[in-house]
Amino acid sequence: MKITRLTTFEVPPRWLFLKIETDDGIAGWGEPVVEGRATTVAACVEELSDYLIGCDPRNIEDLWQVMYRGGFYRGGPILMSAIAGIDQALWDIKGKASGMSVAQLLGGRLRDRIKVYSWIGGDRPADTAAAAQAAADRGFTAIKMNGTAELQIIDTWDRVQAALDRVAAVRDAVPTMGIAVDFHGRVHKPMAKALLKELEPYRLMFIEEPVLSEHLDSFLNPMINTATPIALGEWLYSRWDFKSILASGAVDIIQPDPSHAGGITETRKIATMAEAYDVAVALHCPLGPIALATCLQIDGCTYNAVIQEQSLGIHYNVGNDLLDYLTDRSVFDYAEAFVAIPSGPGLGIDVNEDYVRERTEQGHRWRNPIWRHEDGSIAEW
Ligand SMILES: [Mg+2]
Repeated sequence: MKITRLTTFEVPPRWLFLKIETDDGIAGWGEPVVEGRATTVAACVEELSDYLIGCDPRNIEDLWQVMYRGGFYRGGPILMSAIAGIDQALWDIKGKASGMSVAQLLGGRLRDRIKVYSWIGGDRPADTAAAAQAAADRGFTAIKMNGTAELQIIDTWDRVQAALDRVAAVRDAVPTMGIAVDFHGRVHKPMAKALLKELEPYRLMFIEEPVLSEHLDSFLNPMINTATPIALGEWLYSRWDFKSILASGAVDIIQPDPSHAGGITETRKIATMAEAYDVAVALHCPLGPIALATCLQIDGCTYNAVIQEQSLGIHYNVGNDLLDYLTDRSVFDYAEAFVAIPSGPGLGIDVNEDYVRERTEQGHRWRNPIWRHEDGSIAEW
């Protein structure tokens, strides 16, 4: 079997899909995208195709190493996201060719389903409480919310109080709900210290990205003193990015994104490293259906996977939502706060290529908003 063609599709709301075709008619799909840079990643996929055309797609480990090491320079969001989507498509091909799901190829399923959480929005306490109640009514037992709007390096206490009021309202509305609070890299070390201390009584499921990963050296000591589990990892792209964080002992849950961190091949290895440190995995996935299918295949065979992010109905999904590009929308079987691990060959989904091509005509130019502080300086989003 030989790879004959790679084709990328920019589709709304903000995704990039990849189809890899072979000379025996089997095709695989991947989702190589980093949010806001879809066209750049598509160009990187096109450049990497020089290493792939004519090769046997089943030699995934060799092709991964060639893509990672062969270009001399390595790592970072663009290259590792391009490799990720290609790797996903190669696993999809290998699964379809063998009649096995990716989880089966990686050793076999050890769970049938995994718990998922829902994002909730809302700027005022009453809004977040209502959103959490609505998620509970839809069957979710865990939610994630943003901790704060923009925060200066040193900011005023009313901003901290507003964050506490939103979390308190959710805790009052749905007392048994698992609550994750995402600081989103918006919070700098001084305010992170304050927020972590004040949020501790609410017994959160975890706090995500308490500061940007690039500040890890400075935040490890203060963070390690909180009883709240600390999660991070969506800005980390390889085993080498994760190793010092795991060795530090300060992190409880890692969140690599299999569409950013080198695909199934690399994310599986990162998860195994975490298992050796008794650290849990909650794969990052605010993206599309191929990315979610990829996550679920990894979750299906990864012991320390605990919960899965997913984007159904997320506020970013304007125009198209998670299930729109699938032939069988029931493949992600949401029930009782869980999603089943798809059992079909490869990634276990059928992409509706006609609809993908139709929506590629519209494409997208998604960018995250640019926020500014009241003094005019740019704020982290
Ligand atoms: Mg996050």
